[in-house]
Amino acid sequence: MATAHNLGFPRIGHNRELKRAVERFWKGDAGVEALRESGRALRAKHWQIQRDAGLDYVPVGDFSYYDHVLDACALLGAIPRRYGFGGGDVDFQTYFAMARGSKSQPAMEMTKWFDTNYHYIVPEFSAQSSFALSSRELLDDTREALALGLKPKPVLIGPLSFLWLGKERGERDPGFSRLQLLERLLPVYEAVLAELQRLGVAWVQCDEPALVTDLAQPWLSGLQVAYERLAAAGPRILLTTYFESVASNAAALKRLPVAGLHLDMVRAPQQLEAFLDGWPQDKVLSLGVIDGRNVWRADLAAALDHLERAHSRLGERLWVAPSCSLLHSPTDLALEDVLDDELKSWLAFAVQKLAEVVTLKQALERGRQAVAPALEAAAKARLSRRNSARINNPAVQGRLEALSDADAKRNSGFNDRRRRQRERLNLPPFPTTTIGSFPQTEVIREARQKKRLAQIDAAEYERVIKGEIERAVREQERLGLDVLVHGEAERNDMVEYFGEQLAGFAFTKAGWVQSYGSRCVKPPIIFGDVWRPKPMTVDWIAYAQSRSDKPLKGMLTGPVTILQWSFVRDDQPRSATALQIALAIRDEAVDLERAGVKVIQIDEPAIREGLPLKRRDWDGYLAWAIKAFRVAASGVGDATQIHTHMCYSEFNDIIPAIAEMDADVITIESSRSQMELLDAFAAFRYPNEIGPGVYDIHSPRIPDSDEIAGLLERAAAVVPPDQLWVNPDCGLKTRRWEEVIPSLSNMVNAARRMRAKMDGRS
Ligand code: GLN
Ligand code: ZN
Repeated sequence: MATAHNLGFPRIGHNRELKRAVERFWKGDAGVEALRESGRALRAKHWQIQRDAGLDYVPVGDFSYYDHVLDACALLGAIPRRYGFGGGDVDFQTYFAMARGSKSQPAMEMTKWFDTNYHYIVPEFSAQSSFALSSRELLDDTREALALGLKPKPVLIGPLSFLWLGKERGERDPGFSRLQLLERLLPVYEAVLAELQRLGVAWVQCDEPALVTDLAQPWLSGLQVAYERLAAAGPRILLTTYFESVASNAAALKRLPVAGLHLDMVRAPQQLEAFLDGWPQDKVLSLGVIDGRNVWRADLAAALDHLERAHSRLGERLWVAPSCSLLHSPTDLALEDVLDDELKSWLAFAVQKLAEVVTLKQALERGRQAVAPALEAAAKARLSRRNSARINNPAVQGRLEALSDADAKRNSGFNDRRRRQRERLNLPPFPTTTIGSFPQTEVIREARQKKRLAQIDAAEYERVIKGEIERAVREQERLGLDVLVHGEAERNDMVEYFGEQLAGFAFTKAGWVQSYGSRCVKPPIIFGDVWRPKPMTVDWIAYAQSRSDKPLKGMLTGPVTILQWSFVRDDQPRSATALQIALAIRDEAVDLERAGVKVIQIDEPAIREGLPLKRRDWDGYLAWAIKAFRVAASGVGDATQIHTHMCYSEFNDIIPAIAEMDADVITIESSRSQMELLDAFAAFRYPNEIGPGVYDIHSPRIPDSDEIAGLLERAAAVVPPDQLWVNPDCGLKTRRWEEVIPSLSNMVNAARRMRAKMDGRS
């Protein structure tokens, strides 16, 4: 015997039903009962799918109306005081106010879930935090599953990870660490577990993904304390880890009084040895051998090699599962009628992954022979993928092999380049620019929709978009900006736009994955060698440049960001895919230069989020990520000015790496922590030019020119003024022209004041 289970199913619904239901509720078009009914229907459907697939347990508590960390806050009563929660059960109003803010209160902070593109709500802790069981959702959902005749395995974020995922906030207390709240938190966990046991639940899944990070010793001690108590409180506990290895904590985990442990065997297969050796006789080991983070059909034979070795030692104490929750996977490949059959035969979405898990379980129980057709089909699919001419482009592979160090270097050093660029561009001190996009107007949206529905032809679409580009150029000239942009009217998404034009990319019809709350993304699938059949941006940007005598900045998305926001190949290292994309972007940059574009920005907002979870892997990642950027940026001559842009990440710990990218100018988001970021750039003596964002584009508020000048003064106090640029924080596509024009006008004014002051001084 072996047990097949799942850590979590995508909650959004095959057709994004949850998105619709929640948004109807927000608008006031549906009430509490209607929302609850939508939730019930989705859970029932997803459980049914999992039972039909042949799983022995179905997860409960993986469903959420917004986010599972927010649900944990509600369950445990970790509700910041400002929401005025008065005890009892958290209602939808409080719950969504925490998620999205209310008229009187801002939302809680949101950040990325480990190295995924899913965003969770960050719990807030202070020395005053207290906890109490404040939501019945998990218990109700468990009852619901039991009533349907299922074997539920409730899922909880474990207490260590819950604290670890949060942040200290509120009254400052220098001696306070959120880990100190563990003692106060555990009684609520104990109460939940006791209730679950009363319902007749056999197993509870406690997610402790924090264990894969470089946890400090006090946290590891906390782990022992916590699980000694929780193990005594109720059902058997399966402690789940994912996204990386926990081998370095193997000894502690073996000692932990939990009934089972789950390992991510896709990200970290080598950790198995550390656990098979001396695995306690009374504990289950769950192996996550099916990739929950990517879209490829599994190599079942290879997975079985691991499983059989473990099975011979563990027997029925071996469980089989996906590597992590399937939250990160699209729901069902069966919905895809745009992808061709060959490509589809290479893929597996959540529903297909569960079938793989169950095939593996059957192979363990009855031998490989019993599932021979499934194993053969999987092997055949892999072989066809490996040998397909659609995947392999010898020219691309040859180019990658021939890549030399010189290809990742500009012709001259920054000082020489700067001199030549200054001569050519002739910009004033404190030059002003924007980050790329201008408001996505109704006109643009309508043209895009009509083009998709074939209601207008390509020529008409081009006419409309060029009209918008013309408008953006005119407005920028009127405002007196120094380096203009074309405004990105032709792009709905900075990755999709390039992916659609590059070979090696495919797009799904319904491959939605939750990003945050009701927001979903449909990441492109990079399935083959990447190359650029023809120029992708040159026509639009050359058109924009033809409308102005001022320099116009060509806008490209960088290789790491394209990689990071796509499903990527699992048959070659990420670094190789990044370099292929880099070569395609390099070709585009060279073509832009040839078309007379003197300034080119290569956006890399995602470079920070690609950092590995373990610090020991950072240098390796940064080396290839920076190389990819440099390959993309180094095909142009010295007189062409390369910009890059980054935003909404913690940059302070990778500033030397950012400097290594050697962009001539970096524009960087910093409105949320102005001084912090600049201090770091100053302490490090950032060598090239820098435009710290002086206008927070996420707020509709219009900053006045005093405020912006004040920020520039602060910047000029720590960074030499002749290195400074003046620009907003990020692209303006989510704003309206009515907001953008006065804001930019104040920004230009502030730059002029700085120049005047500088003249006065000299
Ligand atoms: N150039 C892009 C824009 O302005 C950059 C977007 C981003 O940083 N995410 O929209
Ligand atoms: Zn940005």
